[in-house]
Amino acid sequence: MSDCIFCKIVAGEIPSTKVYEDDEVLAFNDIHPFARVHCLIIPKMHVASLADCAPEHQALLGRMLLLAPRLAKEQGLDAGFKTLVNTGRGGGQEVFHLHIHVFGGGDPVRRT
Ligand code: 5GP
Ligand code: ZN
Repeated sequence: MSDCIFCKIVAGEIPSTKVYEDDEVLAFNDIHPFARVHCLIIPKMHVASLADCAPEHQALLGRMLLLAPRLAKEQGLDAGFKTLVNTGRGGGQEVFHLHIHVFGGGDPVRRT
């Protein structure tokens, strides 16, 4: 997807602060963090949203979700963390490339 911000981050065309990378998944710090720690876990392949996932994405989704506690621990969120997946315009999604927000730390944070 040539006009997708997160595809451009995957391609290195837009800089990001990476916190994890493997052959299928990338994680980087959110540019507008709403907690002391706030990173985004994305698939390297373009999938627009959770609503666009199919059974073929099952392993990829599992890989992304299992990364959340690992990143949280690495970022020092020993007391716990939040995960968020906004889906669709009505779900508050702004970037239409699937991502899991992982955030926490500092004052208690809510985003509903
Ligand atoms: P959404 O509302 O789609 O769930 O969240 C999109 C997130 O992407 C927002 O928290 C926003 O701050 C973040 N974001 C948007 N553009 C960029 C960017 O160019 N770089 C980084 N690192 N984060 C971005
Ligand atoms: Zn994309």
